[in-house]
Amino acid sequence: MNLVLFGPPGAGKGTQAKLLMQARALPQLSTGDMLRAAISSGSPLGLQCRGIMDRGDLVSNEIVIRIIAERLDEPDCATGAIFDGFPRTIGQAEALDRLLQSRGRKIHVAIELKINDEMLLQRAESRIREMIASGQVPRPDDTPETLRNRLEVYYRKTAPLIAYYRNQDKLRTVDGMGAIPEVAREIAAVLDSTA
Ligand code: AMP
Repeated sequence: MNLVLFGPPGAGKGTQAKLLMQARALPQLSTGDMLRAAISSGSPLGLQCRGIMDRGDLVSNEIVIRIIAERLDEPDCATGAIFDGFPRTIGQAEALDRLLQSRGRKIHVAIELKINDEMLLQRAESRIREMIASGQVPRPDDTPETLRNRLEVYYRKTAPLIAYYRNQDKLRTVDGMGAIPEVAREIAAVLDSTA
């Protein structure tokens, strides 16, 4: 099964994608993680994306589509994948449909994690506090100012995916406000009813 997980920054996509990866034995394809790995390795791609990501803007469709296209051809994606943080624009969603179609695959379901802005900002603040308390360095794009930009970018560029997947009858909306296991249960119920 190929599924897309999307929602505003801090909605819990990464956490839920990791749980799903274990529960359903599907690889998690997180463009955010891939881009952060490129930055850590000091590659030209990383250098190109760093400033954009630190500001909370989106890197170009061309870059992320290329990364995903390469990743899709790895053997672990043959039976499906969890797309986490990709697609983030209509152009990316169309490209993903084309990439899958040319491989005889398709998106089965797109899950929107819904959560209000106030809760997102609260979660971000507590995440920063916890990281600092445990001696970790918070993500540079996790500051309250950058988060506000990431939210604005989400509503402008990514939220149109709601209509995109609704028109394909693939949209399922899950309340992301609950505790992690509760949200995981809701997602599992959606997937069980899709399979
Ligand atoms: P994430 O870990 O999904 O929150 O992504 C962190 C940052 O990586 C985003 O704010 C963007 O700058 C960049 N990024 C990740 N995925 C994409 C994507 N699909 N399209 C464009 N930029 C992305």
